[in-house]
Amino acid sequence: MIWIWFGVRILDFRIMSKDYYNILGVDKNASQDEIKKAFRKKAHQYHPDKKGGDEAKFKEVNEAYQVLGNEKKRAQYDQFGSAFEHAQAGGGFHGFEGFRDFSNFSEGFNVDMSDLGDIFGGIGDIFGFGGGRGRARTKKGADIQVSLTVEFNEAVFGAEKEIRLNKTVQCDKCEGSGAEPGSKIETCKTCGGKGQTTRTQRTIFGNIEVQMTCSDCSGEGRAYSQKCAKCRGLGVYRDTVNLKVKIPAGINDGGVIRLTGQGEQGRKGAPAGDLYIQVRVKKDARFERVGDDIVSEADISFTQAALGDKIDIETVDGPVKLKIPEGTQSGTSFRMRGKGVPHLKGKGPFGGAHGKRGDHIVKVHVKTPRNLSRKQKKLLRELGI
Ligand SMILES: [Zn+2]
Ligand SMILES: [Zn+2]
Repeated sequence: MIWIWFGVRILDFRIMSKDYYNILGVDKNASQDEIKKAFRKKAHQYHPDKKGGDEAKFKEVNEAYQVLGNEKKRAQYDQFGSAFEHAQAGGGFHGFEGFRDFSNFSEGFNVDMSDLGDIFGGIGDIFGFGGGRGRARTKKGADIQVSLTVEFNEAVFGAEKEIRLNKTVQCDKCEGSGAEPGSKIETCKTCGGKGQTTRTQRTIFGNIEVQMTCSDCSGEGRAYSQKCAKCRGLGVYRDTVNLKVKIPAGINDGGVIRLTGQGEQGRKGAPAGDLYIQVRVKKDARFERVGDDIVSEADISFTQAALGDKIDIETVDGPVKLKIPEGTQSGTSFRMRGKGVPHLKGKGPFGGAHGKRGDHIVKVHVKTPRNLSRKQKKLLRELGI
């Protein structure tokens, strides 16, 4: 254990320059109630599952709340300002990374679990509990974000697409361990088996001895006598991979698909991050999408409008007959039920609940005749309409 002059044990010392009050948008004198309210608002706003969400900001907001939402940590933060970094005697608080360990998670978050309600369902995935305690020291691989453009019809009915990714993958030679096959496990020379290294850091408070997780053994205290030659002991290497992605029927432009564990592989057997695919939907000149409805326009003649007719309307299912009733006015909209986009959520043959789909709405325009012949004009006048 290393003590510095103000009596706080530093666990993982990183200089922090974030203004947590600013991040939550609250005053320095804000009450716990105001802080909690601000946190909830921002967490909902930035939640990555939401449209317009922002994972980086979401993490930042969580980090800020962990400190300001806890009286003790807040006091330390206020006292030591930007030099404060997770300085806490009991450990258990390692910033965002600490969430991987569920015990830390519940400690840091027991206040908010009930407050967050529905958004909490998604947090476990984002924070990757999958690592488990035994891997608490190994760093999960980074998430990857890519965008993928699909045709209008592919977004409507779903599709399977292949994407090419350059990412870190598990080394097949050492199966991610980083050890040359046949090499022995020995005590890590860098940290002497302690799993941590000590370094002196010069700060405004004077010199601080900082304990850091050993980078050679990732804190395990053990190392292999020979590093894997293929991955230089990292357990991973970069490779180009082709990945099949299922585009769900009904996805809208900007929708995000998350593929758990398809991000960057973590080093030395640590779990992989997630892959976020933002779907961009190409425009179709014939159709406009409004929610799960598809809107198109059609021209009808003066005679069709007056006398009624059956006309072909181009829909995503192909041409469909639409009955134009007698006396239809220009600008009238007709709704063709179930010819729109499948509802994304729920199950069913179209991916929607009971196969339910939006509608196709046709707005008709009556074309007033131009360049009439003298005879046509005469007849129209005779009709007197
Ligand atoms: Zn290897
Ligand atoms: Zn070591």
